[in-house]
Amino acid sequence: MSEIIVQKFGGTSVGSDERINAVANIIKKATKENKVIVVVSAMSGETNRLIKLAKSFSDNPNRREFDALISTGEKVSASLLAMALEANGVKAKSFSASQISMKTTNHHSKARIVDVDGKKILSTLNEGIVPIITGFQGITESGDVTTLGRGGSDTTAVAIAAQVDATRCDIYTDVDGVYTTDPRVVPEAKKLDSITMEEMLEMAGQGAKVVQIRAVEFANKYKVPVRVLSSFEEGEGTLISLKEGNMENALISGIAFKKDQTKFTLHSVADTPGIAHKILGPVNDKDISVDVIVQNVSVNGKTDFTFTVDSEEEEKVKSILENEKSGLDYADLLIDANIAKVSVVGAGMRSHAGIASKAFEALSSEGINIQVISTSEIKLTLVIEEKYLELAVRSLHKAFNLEK
Ligand code: ADP
Ligand code: ASP
Ligand code: MG
Repeated sequence: MSEIIVQKFGGTSVGSDERINAVANIIKKATKENKVIVVVSAMSGETNRLIKLAKSFSDNPNRREFDALISTGEKVSASLLAMALEANGVKAKSFSASQISMKTTNHHSKARIVDVDGKKILSTLNEGIVPIITGFQGITESGDVTTLGRGGSDTTAVAIAAQVDATRCDIYTDVDGVYTTDPRVVPEAKKLDSITMEEMLEMAGQGAKVVQIRAVEFANKYKVPVRVLSSFEEGEGTLISLKEGNMENALISGIAFKKDQTKFTLHSVADTPGIAHKILGPVNDKDISVDVIVQNVSVNGKTDFTFTVDSEEEEKVKSILENEKSGLDYADLLIDANIAKVSVVGAGMRSHAGIASKAFEALSSEGINIQVISTSEIKLTLVIEEKYLELAVRSLHKAFNLEK
């Protein structure tokens, strides 16, 4: 019996009628050997166009209407792709989130998938029809449309693969795999044949947008093998491997980075039990993710408390902290929107000393000041001034011998 695979095509892959025809050919070929379920993104630039349109009416558009609007791009590409397939002699049917009951939480623009009706998808497959599913979106319990955050079609694809027990989820994009860093920033970056799930989690979490982090979390949780590959050229791509251990045997797998970050520092805040919760509790309550959290050693009962968030959350966080000022008892609130984060990721870090000092040396040789340092088992994150970001990425990439 043929196996089920899920193929996801990103925005550039379906960016024009020619590209849609090229994708239809990839799908047609795959249907010769497998049962294929397809997930699509909006045509490239379309989601941005819709966001801009919404913001021309209000800086803060109604969240329900905003999601209803920005989810439409995927409906267009799903239907066009179904038409292209039919024209190519392959039976296909587009499905919106509501048609396959893609249920999510009701956090508009950052909704999480709760459940999806696999039966509808499977019965379509069994009729010999390729289901083409709109990525990036879902519906709430009450039927309102939600979206899953930028890059969310990856997550739709992996969630569906998990639900129907697919053999594999192939993420087709505009690069031929996962690289040691963004090849658009470092042309010498090297394609990886494989990367472990935990390394990919860190790479995606630290900004490598080639796969959305939620997609990797799903893949890890439900043990779905994922491959990242190009829709423009043939190749094996990169396997995000479920096996433990660094298959490439490299100390460091890659360098990830995030722009558009804002650093908040509460200066001279009373260092009492519960202070971190008092500061970050109200931020979390608004569903804002907080990263790099550092509390200094306290002096005379006072300390400095620093954390970063995505810059789009700056205004919200600022007003939360200002509203809580009396309860928090800090001297100053310092806000720096001119920062970026660069992270060195690699499972080899566990067993090797000296990674941090090598990274520090690389940045110091370029005269780049490190503002905050944060580490996990397999990751070192450095907060630096944004204007040095690309230089920092290149110098770390070189220092760890990641070039091809
Ligand atoms: P899609 O529209 O197919 O979802 P994305 O733009 O979301 O594509 O992701 C692909 C892009 O991710 C690439 O064009 C590349 O610039 C970027 N990228 C960032 N980090 C990496 C990395 N480590 N490896 C490969 N691509 C990366
Ligand atoms: N179209 C959406 C975006 O641009 C979702 C995706 O491409 O994965 O973010
Ligand atoms: Mg993407």
